[in-house]
Amino acid sequence: MTDVDYCVIGGGFAGLTAALRLSQAGRSVVVLEARDRLGGRTFTEARADGSWIDRGGAWIGPGQDRIHALMHEFGVPSYKQYTDGEAMMVVGGKQHRYTGTIPWTMSPWAAMNLGAVLLELGHMCGSVPLESPWAAKNAGKWDRISLAQWLDSTVASKPAHELLETAIAGCYTSAAAEVSLLFVLYQMASGGGPGFVLGVEDGAQDERPVGGMGAVYGPMAAAIGDSIHLSQPVRRIQQDADGVTVRSDDSTVRAHRAIVAVPLAIASQILYEPMLPVDRSFLHQRMPSGSIIKTSVVYDQPFWRSDGLSGQSVAPGSPATITIDACTDTGRPGILCVIAEGPIARRIGRLDETERREAILDALVERFGAKARPPVDYLEQNWSVERYSGGGMLSHAPTGVLTQFGHALRAPCGRIHWAGTESSAVMCGWVDGAVRSGERAATEVMEHDTATAAGSPLPR
Ligand SMILES: Cc1cc2nc3c(=O)[nH]c(=O)nc-3n(C[C@H](O)[C@H](O)[C@H](O)COP(=O)(O)OP(=O)(O)OC[C@H]3O[C@@H](n4cnc5c(N)ncnc54)[C@H](O)[C@@H]3O)c2cc1C
Repeated sequence: MTDVDYCVIGGGFAGLTAALRLSQAGRSVVVLEARDRLGGRTFTEARADGSWIDRGGAWIGPGQDRIHALMHEFGVPSYKQYTDGEAMMVVGGKQHRYTGTIPWTMSPWAAMNLGAVLLELGHMCGSVPLESPWAAKNAGKWDRISLAQWLDSTVASKPAHELLETAIAGCYTSAAAEVSLLFVLYQMASGGGPGFVLGVEDGAQDERPVGGMGAVYGPMAAAIGDSIHLSQPVRRIQQDADGVTVRSDDSTVRAHRAIVAVPLAIASQILYEPMLPVDRSFLHQRMPSGSIIKTSVVYDQPFWRSDGLSGQSVAPGSPATITIDACTDTGRPGILCVIAEGPIARRIGRLDETERREAILDALVERFGAKARPPVDYLEQNWSVERYSGGGMLSHAPTGVLTQFGHALRAPCGRIHWAGTESSAVMCGWVDGAVRSGERAATEVMEHDTATAAGSPLPR
């Protein structure tokens, strides 16, 4: 049995940040990570030619100050996302090339609808308090309906509806009918509004760390040192008056407190003894993740750039629903990131590997021309079949959940504390939110222990 101050469960950005801050504060800590790798929903793969591919989370943006601070701490520079050239939209069988946010080549009615809905969303986001979205003036009303119901009653133009449904529901990697409108508003507000969430330049896809996310989580892990244990899925956390006992298949850790930094969608895979309070336990049953397949298609060079395109495209219903330039800072080789989300990801997830690859390459040829085939490399990552992610990109709340169970998102349960991007009121769902949650949880456990030692009434 290992005896430490704190045990952190999960070696994604949230868990690693918590462990880093605790060890920097002179506390002893053990990290138990289920997989044989770190990074969780981020996963950087180095290629033989010196380039790298982010198979999960990749982009960062302005306002994401805590991931920027970590990068600064470990000397990791960033580079700007390539945005020169035109983006593309394929709606109603028509291809539109455009610059800026709104494709004005669509009918003026559709373009006006798009603009008006984004404005309205921004306005609604403004009234959602980040620490307690369930207390928003219209929380009850917005939590009763799904994003789909709101879009149906708000967007009159069919092409605008199709685009908005794909773009917004895509953020939750789910069908629009699966996600509560209140959760959408809260999550968007936590990033600063729809402009940030859906935007590239000055938005959530503004830049990337040089070397990918692994260039950040690698040095973090090195700084934490040999207290990280891989291939240790935690099965059980038992708490008593003096501490917690955390068990994986072949290790036992005794600590003052535990920080659970796993995705909400799979937090109930762990057995908690005694049982968690009802609201927390029910929250685990009610916040699922969606589906996402992220494919990185590698070419000798980014041919779309010389064709006057940015590589950014959206085509509702296509197996290559979204594409974006994913080259490294050198621009060589050409790497195109292809995303399928929600129902489409599940549909193409049922194809065999060859059929799926053909479907995706066919869609790319249709959009970008014959140069899109054959690629020199092709790497797909289906997050729905990742046991220790339970889907991607984030766990979301269906209707009725935030107003009834949201208050349990961060509240410690005795000696068990919660981290993970889903528990962050700011940048919820992004890597930056994960980092913030890890820092908050590290502070929280130390404060609770200080208070307990001083005999204060903070819960043990
Ligand atoms: C395809 C994709 C694209 C994305 N794109 C972006 C992006 O561009 N920018 C951005 O900011 N965010 C993006 N995200 C979201 C981002 O990756 C996540 O918000 C972030 O990585 C979450 O970090 P976390 O530490 O909270 O959780 P995770 O990264 O999920 O870490 C949890 C860890 O816990 C481990 N674990 C699970 N169960 C157990 C157990 N029982 N015992 C021990 N360990 C366990 C897991 O293996 C994992 O390592 C993307 C996500 C995906 C999937």
